[in-house]
Amino acid sequence: MSKFLEIRSKNKDICTLGECGGSITSILQYLLETKVVDGVLNIKKYDDIYDGVPVFITDPKEILETAGSLHCAPTMVADLISEYLDDKKLAVVVKPCDAMAINELVKRNRFNSENLFIIGLNCGGTLMPEPAQRMFELFYDLNPEDIIKEEIDKGQIIVLLKDGTEKGVKIDELEEKGWGRRENCQRCEVKIPRNTDIVCGNWGATEGWTFTEVISEKGVKLINDAVKDGFIESKTPSDKQIEIRAKLEKIMEKLADKFQKKQLNTEYPSIEKWDEYWNRCIECYGCRDVCPICWCNECEIERFFENESLTPPDPLTFQGVRLTHMSFSCINCGQCEDVCPVHIPLSKIYYKAQKNYRENTGYIAGITDELPPLYSPENE
Ligand SMILES: Cc1cc2nc3c(=O)[nH]c(=O)nc-3n(C[C@H](O)[C@H](O)[C@H](O)COP(=O)(O)OP(=O)(O)OC[C@H]3O[C@@H](n4cnc5c(N)ncnc54)[C@H](O)[C@@H]3O)c2cc1C
Ligand code: SF4
Ligand code: SF4
Ligand code: SF4
Repeated sequence: MSKFLEIRSKNKDICTLGECGGSITSILQYLLETKVVDGVLNIKKYDDIYDGVPVFITDPKEILETAGSLHCAPTMVADLISEYLDDKKLAVVVKPCDAMAINELVKRNRFNSENLFIIGLNCGGTLMPEPAQRMFELFYDLNPEDIIKEEIDKGQIIVLLKDGTEKGVKIDELEEKGWGRRENCQRCEVKIPRNTDIVCGNWGATEGWTFTEVISEKGVKLINDAVKDGFIESKTPSDKQIEIRAKLEKIMEKLADKFQKKQLNTEYPSIEKWDEYWNRCIECYGCRDVCPICWCNECEIERFFENESLTPPDPLTFQGVRLTHMSFSCINCGQCEDVCPVHIPLSKIYYKAQKNYRENTGYIAGITDELPPLYSPENE
């Protein structure tokens, strides 16, 4: 049974740098300073807010550089965990789609989550960096380089400028015109990732605090120890705050359902349109490489490159192989679509296949703890 808390950092600098009280940054600092973990896998801002990249941090001082939320960083970290975990102990900060990918990878024995602290973030959605910059020019009449911070609040995408001023535009207005959050984020129905140890967000929180749902035993110990060692402070939220958070979660789930109906039914591409898409495919295999779930040890496709006498499969056959291998486990992260150089709406097919599979079997990719029915570990 989850426990609800409000948390904030006890370090004034981290409180200021952090998104809502810097609780995550201080928890990570606690984990590194007390050597509970060997490293932290996280996202950090490089040149600007459009440049969020994964980092592996072992020095507690460096963790400050990761404070704050980056909404223009749809970066997936789940598939990087196995590279760093080995025999080490790690902490990782995850959006719901990362948490779902972790669930699928653990079920496939890609890594063991025993030595992993999974710190979740509520997530209303992310934006693609390049289109976001164009959107800020067109709808905000701003130079994207002048923006130093962005947030999604009260139905708006709000930006903070170098000169201290703010500007917000309604998400509905932007999305009706084809801008705003990534399409997969619009239809994403998991807004609070509960297959984690703790999950943090601003919904229902007092200004300057993080509303935290403490989920696992590991999470309970983590918070208690970080409080005891003076890294964070905590208080109990009111029933009203808990209610507000639950209400916001429901509203976002309903909105996602509306987008699913629109994108996966009403506006789903016709067979002719798919033909047109497959004709565009340049067979770069970026969609396969980036997919956190599509991860056979030996990819069927590779043998076509190892043997010159074989002709590589056409795009439709290639996607057919991918579909049979992992469509039932698609977690709608949208990474495949993000990297496709010819803009094929790939995650729509995979997610629609998972939704059909879900209806027939009850298996929810990234959430159900057991392996999918009829799953074959062949080749993995
Ligand atoms: C894209 C995004 C959308 C969000 N949407 C909501 C929402 O709709 N409702 C809500 O209640 N809360 C949402 N949050 C969570 C909220 O913004 C805060 O991150 C959370 O309350 C923790 O605050 P903090 O001060 O403790 O975090 P901090 O101490 O500032 O730490 C934030 C942590 O998040 C990590 N991070 C930043 N950007 C990303 C990213 N793109 N992907 C993965 N990790 C990242 C940082 O590396 C850092 O470790 C969202 C966060 C993100 C990143
Ligand atoms: S797919 Fe869902 S969890 Fe992932 S970034 Fe989009 S809204 Fe957030
Ligand atoms: S098929 Fe696309 S959307 Fe589905 S899990 Fe793979 S990368 Fe994510
Ligand atoms: S990323 Fe796009 S172009 Fe590349 S193989 Fe996949 S579908 Fe084809």
